[in-house]
Amino acid sequence: MIILKIGGSILTEKDSNESEVDTKSLKRIASEIKASLDKSFKELIIVHGAGSFGHPPAKKYRIGEEFDKSEYPEKRIGFCETQNAVKKLNMYVCEAFIEEGLPVVAVPASSFMTATNKRITHGDLDQFKKYLNKGFIPVIYGDVVLDDELEICVISGDQLIQYLAMNLNPESVILGTDVDGVYNKNPKTHDDAMFFDKFSSIEDLDTLEGTTNIDVTGGMVGKIKELLYLADLGIESKIINAEVENNIYKVLENEKVKGTVISRGN
Ligand code: ADP
Repeated sequence: MIILKIGGSILTEKDSNESEVDTKSLKRIASEIKASLDKSFKELIIVHGAGSFGHPPAKKYRIGEEFDKSEYPEKRIGFCETQNAVKKLNMYVCEAFIEEGLPVVAVPASSFMTATNKRITHGDLDQFKKYLNKGFIPVIYGDVVLDDELEICVISGDQLIQYLAMNLNPESVILGTDVDGVYNKNPKTHDDAMFFDKFSSIEDLDTLEGTTNIDVTGGMVGKIKELLYLADLGIESKIINAEVENNIYKVLENEKVKGTVISRGN
């Protein structure tokens, strides 16, 4: 089994407040996945981020922050707006994948997962296994869920990766984003950023700055934290640049691709 994440940064204009899909990237990625599956069958789960669809409403309504009971009506609408926005992005993703001939089926986190203090504590993955057994590709994405402590919260695609991998024990966990992997500082704002082939400790970062100012789920730092949880369980993951043509195809085919392996080993 392979768990593949496609970052919101690839699918949308994450820096913008507009909900616009990068249809070209989406189509290319769909065709790379199809080409690999045509070569040999692989059990695949796809996770995608929320990008510019999910982050603005989540930020506007401060989903995940504690609130007074009197604010509930507004928070509830914020939850619905965010859930609907990420569902729209998912629809575009699934549409592009189905057009390419990929048997994807959406399994939204908001419909079956709950969290406690922003961490997923319930989410029966039997349905995933059933879909996989019948040859489908389940697709899950960054979403809002009910929270036993905070009432509602945001769950990032990166946390979903951690939860799925921890519970399903895949052979490979791959995260496609818009940079080559992890650097000691943000490569988009620092020309002298140094690249890591392997990454094993958050202390190797020079700064804990996130990504864009609209990202409510932690950007690269949030991603690394989730992947280090997995590394602690002995599950290795790899971050690669999904903007580079053929990288997704190659990584699915086990070919060499530049990227950062997150593991606790040396
Ligand atoms: P995605 O939406 O693809 O999951 P994010 O936007 O959350 O990805 O995170 C990727 C972004 O993190 C990159 O575009 C980069 O600008 C930023 N970033 C911040 N710090 C780092 C770092 N130390 N190494 C790599 N990227 C970083």
